[in-house]
Amino acid sequence: MRQFLRSPLGIALLICLSLGGLDFWAPFSSFYWNKVAPLLASPASERVVIVTMDEGSDPTTGDAAALLERIRREMPRSVFFDAKVAYGVNEAGDAQLARAIASFGQDFTYVVRSQKPDQFGSADFRLPPSQIVAPSQIAVSAWTTNFTYKALSAPYRVILDGREYPTVSTVIAGRHRGVQSEYYPDFSVAPATIPLVSGRSLREGRLPKGILAGRTVVLTSDQSAMVGYFGSPIVQPIAVDIAVAEALRKPLSLSTSFVPMLAMVALAVLATRRIRFKRLRALLYLLTVSVVIALPMYLRTLGIVCEPDGSVAFMVIYAGIRGWQKRTHRIQHTSLSGLPNLAALSSLPIEVGRDVVVVVVARYEEIMATLPRELHGEVARQIARRLSVGSGANEIYHGESGHFAWTEEARPLEMQLNHLEGLRALFSAPLQIGEHTFDTNIHFGLDRNEGLDASTRVNSALASANEALGNGRSIELFESQRLVEAPWELSLHARIEEGLRNGEIWLAFQPQWDFAQGRVSGAEALIRWNHPTRGPIAPDAFILQAERAGRIDTLTYWVLEEAISAALTLNALGPRFQMSINLSAQMVDKADLVTNFAEIVRRRGIEPSLLTIEVTETSSVRNRPAACHNLTRLREMGFRLSIDDFGTGEASLAYLADLPSDELKLDRRFVSRLIDSERDRVIITSTIALAHALHQSVVAEGIEDAATFALLREFGCDQAQGYYLGRPQPFAVFLSDYEAGRRYAISDV
Ligand code: C2E
Ligand code: CA
Ligand code: CA
Repeated sequence: MRQFLRSPLGIALLICLSLGGLDFWAPFSSFYWNKVAPLLASPASERVVIVTMDEGSDPTTGDAAALLERIRREMPRSVFFDAKVAYGVNEAGDAQLARAIASFGQDFTYVVRSQKPDQFGSADFRLPPSQIVAPSQIAVSAWTTNFTYKALSAPYRVILDGREYPTVSTVIAGRHRGVQSEYYPDFSVAPATIPLVSGRSLREGRLPKGILAGRTVVLTSDQSAMVGYFGSPIVQPIAVDIAVAEALRKPLSLSTSFVPMLAMVALAVLATRRIRFKRLRALLYLLTVSVVIALPMYLRTLGIVCEPDGSVAFMVIYAGIRGWQKRTHRIQHTSLSGLPNLAALSSLPIEVGRDVVVVVVARYEEIMATLPRELHGEVARQIARRLSVGSGANEIYHGESGHFAWTEEARPLEMQLNHLEGLRALFSAPLQIGEHTFDTNIHFGLDRNEGLDASTRVNSALASANEALGNGRSIELFESQRLVEAPWELSLHARIEEGLRNGEIWLAFQPQWDFAQGRVSGAEALIRWNHPTRGPIAPDAFILQAERAGRIDTLTYWVLEEAISAALTLNALGPRFQMSINLSAQMVDKADLVTNFAEIVRRRGIEPSLLTIEVTETSSVRNRPAACHNLTRLREMGFRLSIDDFGTGEASLAYLADLPSDELKLDRRFVSRLIDSERDRVIITSTIALAHALHQSVVAEGIEDAATFALLREFGCDQAQGYYLGRPQPFAVFLSDYEAGRRYAISDV
């Protein structure tokens, strides 16, 4: 049952049944019956004739009485009075009308109507004075209408002022039933064809003799009522009552809801769906549609009302869902191999505890190019089979250009990598396609970022697989860090500007101790960011991101300005003070770097030699000649240059050879191991010797204890920096420490 409700048939049925109650499809029904009603209608019989009063919109009771007397002379079978006259205005006229009515005896019917015929029993249905018409001679024109005021049905009887009255059509047709019963128009009469006679021509004797004799005559004046008849222009509202009276002469008058036909159509669709022959299936669908269109029409002629709307809606919705299903199937399946594609995997919810694996087959395009097209699907299927057997995955998804993907249980990383390596072994046996044999190899991309959405994970694994293929590695793991930081990177620009503006970004100063002078002779300016929500952000992290986002310039110039302010203040105190700043590798090769630095120092009036620019030897400098050129120019201008993190990069010595520098900064990784590692001691002593030979001064950073500090002094290091001498501090703190000469005692160590 559940499965049925999830099928297109079930969904369409549910929608129709739930919306059917709301009359949601009424516009469709209205359209249908407006088109169909004229097909069912034939001209009216001559039994009923309408006589119009021509006195304009307000005939008096006297006018009406006179016309009634004239009609009586024509010997009609019965008379209906549907004229709007004003009672109690002219007493003589009222009396004359009462007499005229009385003269018809039981063959007279007075029609009570309202502007809004669907509000039965409301005060709008005004009854005539009882001294003029006996209650037994009154009938009511009451209708249920649709949203365009077309008559849908009418009650047999209506209660007004506590009394039951028949409705007009039932009196005309001579059919009577209780208050609860209803009847329905069958559209068998075109209301516009009901014979119409003008009251004036009757009075003037211009009508053929006997035209009203033996007929039912309806005397009407200009009436307005919001009731119409499907497919017909209506001359007078009474025409609806007259036309519908024909329907009442039929043996049947009942309405099924839309449900039986809907059930029938649903069954027909259900049966048709199982037919395997496409043509026959199409034929049967067509037949069902025709039945839905023709059957209500036919039933109406029998007096049975059956609305097609629910069934049509059902077919439209069903066709829509099927179409959509077919489309997604097509979209999600790679046509040649018939395997579901990566889009299909991306649209699945991937459970927690599963890894996404993407394989890329090396030389896939090449293999395809050598094979006839009809074998392409076979290649993919054969690869998928191998992967499925090897990985134990039920479903292998096939992407473009030799990518295959699946999900599998997230084992511990070590195990997972071993497992994939094992899978790779399956491809040591060549692929056999027809008479062709191919050697191939596969590379894996693995995504283990549980909880992210499927399409992100598939894409990550895919990117990693391509990376693995590119660098010839067998497996590449997608780093989640890259992803987690992505949205943060996107808005970094705005955040940096904001952080600079509101003081979240600030500069810390870490003292540099000079061994020879036995005092703090400088500082390194280090950037800090106290983010209001993320807390303190490590400079490495956001500098890297600012670099990636191309936002490092703003930060660098801000740092330079701040560091200059600090340097000017400190130098004003007397002894020479050297200020170091860090220059990102992303910036050293920028064309406008030198002019900007020159402009800033000139404007700030600082001697460039008081500033040391620390550059890291890194492979990420894109334009090495431009970088060398810039640094040379800066040095010529007087800036001191320092090679930061010396000993860690790939090109330490090469850099030293290329670049004109003044200082080497021993990386803290060596410094921190100095005590324990003989090897690092050797590296440091020989680096110091090398530096001195090249006329460089040497700064050791990351000194955390007295022993390291002492050892470095012994090795002939020129300057020292580290937590042992002072942590990076806000300028105010740094300044007061500096002025107080704190730590000067260290020279005694
Ligand atoms: P770096 O230039 O090598 O800076 C030295 C780092 O070592 C600083 O980390 C400093 O706080 C830390 N440090 C100093 N003494 C000790 C110590 O005794 N022990 C230990 N464990 N660490 C010590 P920080 O401030 O986190 O800066 C990290 C990196 O961020 C810097 O490395 C530098 O590459 C970059 N950076 C910082 N400020 C700037 C800047 O204004 N511009 C640029 N481009 N990069 C900056
Ligand atoms: Ca540095
Ligand atoms: Ca460093």
